[in-house]
Amino acid sequence: MSHLLHRSVNGAYPVAVGGKGVMLFDAEGKSYIDASGGAAVSCLGHGHPDIVAAMHAQIDKLAYAHTSFFTSEPAEELAEHLIARAPKGLSTVFICSSGSEAIEACLKLARHYFIEKGESRRTNFISRRQSYHGITVGALSVGGRMKDRAPFKEMLLTGHHIAPCYAYRDQRTDETPEQYGLRVADELEAKILELGADTVAAFVAETVVGATLGAATPAPGYFKRIREICDRHGVLLILDEVMCGMGRTGTLHACEQEGIAPDLMAIAKGLGAGYAPIGAMLVAGKIVAAIRQGSGAFPHSQTYNGHPLACATALAVQKVIERDDLLANVRLQGAHLERRLKERFGNHHHVGDVRGRGHFWGIELVADRASKTPFEASLKLNARIKQAAMARGLMVYPMGGTADGVSGDHVLLAPPFIADAAVMDTIVERLGEAVDAAI
Ligand code: PLP
Repeated sequence: MSHLLHRSVNGAYPVAVGGKGVMLFDAEGKSYIDASGGAAVSCLGHGHPDIVAAMHAQIDKLAYAHTSFFTSEPAEELAEHLIARAPKGLSTVFICSSGSEAIEACLKLARHYFIEKGESRRTNFISRRQSYHGITVGALSVGGRMKDRAPFKEMLLTGHHIAPCYAYRDQRTDETPEQYGLRVADELEAKILELGADTVAAFVAETVVGATLGAATPAPGYFKRIREICDRHGVLLILDEVMCGMGRTGTLHACEQEGIAPDLMAIAKGLGAGYAPIGAMLVAGKIVAAIRQGSGAFPHSQTYNGHPLACATALAVQKVIERDDLLANVRLQGAHLERRLKERFGNHHHVGDVRGRGHFWGIELVADRASKTPFEASLKLNARIKQAAMARGLMVYPMGGTADGVSGDHVLLAPPFIADAAVMDTIVERLGEAVDAAI
């Protein structure tokens, strides 16, 4: 009997004992293609010798130094590397250990910024329904998946939610993708006006929605309009690129493809590629300037901020991605994966939509294609697909649909950036078999 509190206390999990490239191995000797990078984490695959070497080199020098006493070379170098490639206007990096912490830091810094500016009435956060931003109380408060929130509702901060940008289900037949994008973006302005513009601190959204909607890409022009609305009302734009960022969609930041830059951005997962737990918040220069002119400090620090080993690891990951031009591979093999997915599932009776970008793809499963009716939640289709895929040596990331604002079960794919065409072909072949076996 395990003494670990597993995700399911009744669950039995294979024991992972090794990994090489796109493969993971369990203690029974079974191998799995890691087609989801865990949960869109392992973007370099497993056992990358250059990352392992960089970790050894750093741990031989210095594993840890508390940030109230010291800064460290890896933390400074990582910040410099990230800012040199950051969306316009972002100047400074806060380094923590996970995506939830990065989001929590964004929320608190947004609030702190307005206190520094003397706009302390700005306490409201607006986010989107059917969204996931992490597990901590602040992150859960902006999260929009009601079943996650319900057990903790008395503990949550006030959160205000608008519709997600989810064309498959919500775009009307009489509107173009652009018209749809503007219509849903305008819900933000209506919500800001309803709450009172001088009470709103920030709007939080994932650029491409991962876990909750399965790689749902924004409609053209959606984020440009969101940016305009935020600017018009002095509201900060927080982008959650924990899952979709750091190259996952074919550009380093997903927002590059939307032609906008946020005021605060959360990154994690692909930043350290799973070799070390690390997340970060990227901060606009205007926010740092307000702190500089105000109290001089952001009162939010943690024991493991800027952890030297984690920073050296993430820096090595980012340098390998750049050195090996892996984002070019993401674009090339992402297009191949898209073709294969559309061939295999484009006419499948129970696949309503195939969507995504780069190495970030989702298929949405439906009981009936014409009416888009989702499968009953009680069928636990997501768990069955996961099991059927594991039995075939494939790791994918299936998720149940949401009842609050309907969505179907979906399967998320997030293969490592090193995956080639043959790996993509095997992923699609095994996924097809797993879906057919599970339904
Ligand atoms: N934000 C998004 C979009 C995520 O997908 C996740 C995790 O899946 C998080 C935040 C939370 O990150 P973490 O699990 O590292 O705390």
